[in-house]
Amino acid sequence: MAPKPVADIHFIWEVTRTCNFRCAYCLSGSNTVREKLVPVDVAAVRRTLDASGYVFELNLVGGEPSILPNFVDLVRGLTQRHYVFLTTNLAADAVFERFAAEVDPARITGIDCSFHVEQREQRSSFEKYARTWNLLKDRGFKLYANYVAHPSLLGRIAGDLDRLAGLGVAINPTPYIGLWEDRKYPDSYTAEERRFLFKEDAYAGKWEAHIDAAPTEVLCNAGYNVFWVAGDGTISKCTTYLKKQYGNIYTGFAGPDSRIQVCRATTCSCPYYSVLAHYFQYGMAQMAKAS
Ligand code: SF4
Ligand code: SF4
Repeated sequence: MAPKPVADIHFIWEVTRTCNFRCAYCLSGSNTVREKLVPVDVAAVRRTLDASGYVFELNLVGGEPSILPNFVDLVRGLTQRHYVFLTTNLAADAVFERFAAEVDPARITGIDCSFHVEQREQRSSFEKYARTWNLLKDRGFKLYANYVAHPSLLGRIAGDLDRLAGLGVAINPTPYIGLWEDRKYPDSYTAEERRFLFKEDAYAGKWEAHIDAAPTEVLCNAGYNVFWVAGDGTISKCTTYLKKQYGNIYTGFAGPDSRIQVCRATTCSCPYYSVLAHYFQYGMAQMAKAS
């Protein structure tokens, strides 16, 4: 039997599309979107989650979640009963000092700390990244450092990784997913680049995150124990099926599907398969047991 994940349900929640960086390769639109940052209504979200009777793992993504005006209060509120996974560029130094002091590491399932080298050089520094990383690490947070291996950076990555290692940061390259100079990535990395850059298991996972061909009737846990939550709080199956809704994180969760459904989408760019394999395996095992 696949081990039970820490929570019943995983929400990937795009809490803001605004960011404090302007990466040239940004996929989330943060280079152009400058939505006004407003505090999240933590009490309303907690009411929705707590009333459902489920335990949630909330994966906060953006944009950059940590620039929300009440980010630390949001995480503290959510982690009273639930769990948080965070994806961040780690650039809001003062916010993370408060986060390290006030948030319980036992309730944070992981922090994905993306290192964006050109923005670090323009707006911050390698040393500031390392200082915040080491602060969080020393407090017991589970950290993952990744360096987006954009094809334009291939000539410098090895040196950057060495420099970060010297500052105490163990960082892994992560494949770039998208188009560059009319070539599609990650498919266009050479075999040699692949061997140098990526651990095979991580690479394979990222591959699966970008299904281009039709999934042709795959069973998918979206809507069963993994969901997408948009900036306005709307809860959907995934970013492909935004119209199939399950309520709103501010006003009420309608509950999950009773069974894992077959997906007939022709494309899927949702990250569920690679990052939420444990929810998929557990859900499938539950379904098998029930049948
Ligand atoms: S830090 Fe992330 S969200 Fe912000 S601009 Fe860079 S890639 Fe986009
Ligand atoms: S589009 Fe992808 S994430 Fe959405 S239901 Fe289909 S396979 Fe699952």
